[in-house]
Amino acid sequence: MRFISGIREMQQESDSLRAAGKRIGFVPTMGALHEGHLDLLRLSRQHCDVTVMSVFVNPTQFGPNEDFSRYPRDIARDAALAESAGCDILFTPDADEVYPPAYSTWVLEENLGNTLEGRARPTHFRGVTTVVAKLFHMVKPHCAVFGQKDAQQAAIIRRMVRDLHFDIELIIAPIRREPDGLAMSSRNMYLSDTGRQEALALSRSLRLAERFAADGGLDAGTLRAIVENEITRSGAVTLDYVAIVDAETLEERDDISGPPVLLALAARVENTRLIDNTILKVETIES
Ligand code: AMP
Repeated sequence: MRFISGIREMQQESDSLRAAGKRIGFVPTMGALHEGHLDLLRLSRQHCDVTVMSVFVNPTQFGPNEDFSRYPRDIARDAALAESAGCDILFTPDADEVYPPAYSTWVLEENLGNTLEGRARPTHFRGVTTVVAKLFHMVKPHCAVFGQKDAQQAAIIRRMVRDLHFDIELIIAPIRREPDGLAMSSRNMYLSDTGRQEALALSRSLRLAERFAADGGLDAGTLRAIVENEITRSGAVTLDYVAIVDAETLEERDDISGPPVLLALAARVENTRLIDNTILKVETIES
């Protein structure tokens, strides 16, 4: 595995790879890697000849009272894990180079980013779209892999790629979970043993909703109430939102049949904000 941190060096490497006819796959991350991130790497390897993973804790996607300074950073561990999953190039740009002095240009998606996570984190997606656009210019990938874990992020990146004509194929990897159902997240490290147990209410509520939805007959409001009740029942989890929306436009949906519906939620456990989601599958009766 090669290590690159200079932006120019990364661009030159990508130019040579492209000139040699190689298909470049890209997996952007903030490090603190877990199996979910490694799934993205493996997926990229299935679709591409060379896989670049970036590790960059992007300051502009954190709000002023969020966990930027304490976000877990361990590049030696990340490098070992990335290499074990077949990463070819680990790209670790410096924040000073990514955001040069007097930096004043942003990439802003103006619609999908205002809802769900965007309500609680008003500047978050501006930071995400800006850094992803920058990273795309640095890595010049043919294909990029993101996780369904961040469903809204995936929808926004898809929109950005379409709207700004990035010639990049997007691949969205399914959510990787712990054996007990908890969605893997770098932020799970913040939880105590008790908090971790309490956090299981999130995935449990989604499984419950999936079962009800599959049986059919429930409207979005009832389904949302079932999820809310399951999460708040113990009193240990503070719910932020449960939303039932169109998976592509993120517009609220009353009817859960038809185009894919995303059930997304966010909650706080011991001051750690966790998100989880599922795409509801509704039993349709062929006539
Ligand atoms: P992060 O560095 O955790 O912000 O995420 C980097 C990429 O990994 C994003 O595309 C995430 O959606 C994806 N990701 C994070 N956790 C998971 C997971 N449990 N399963 C699948 N993908 C994930």
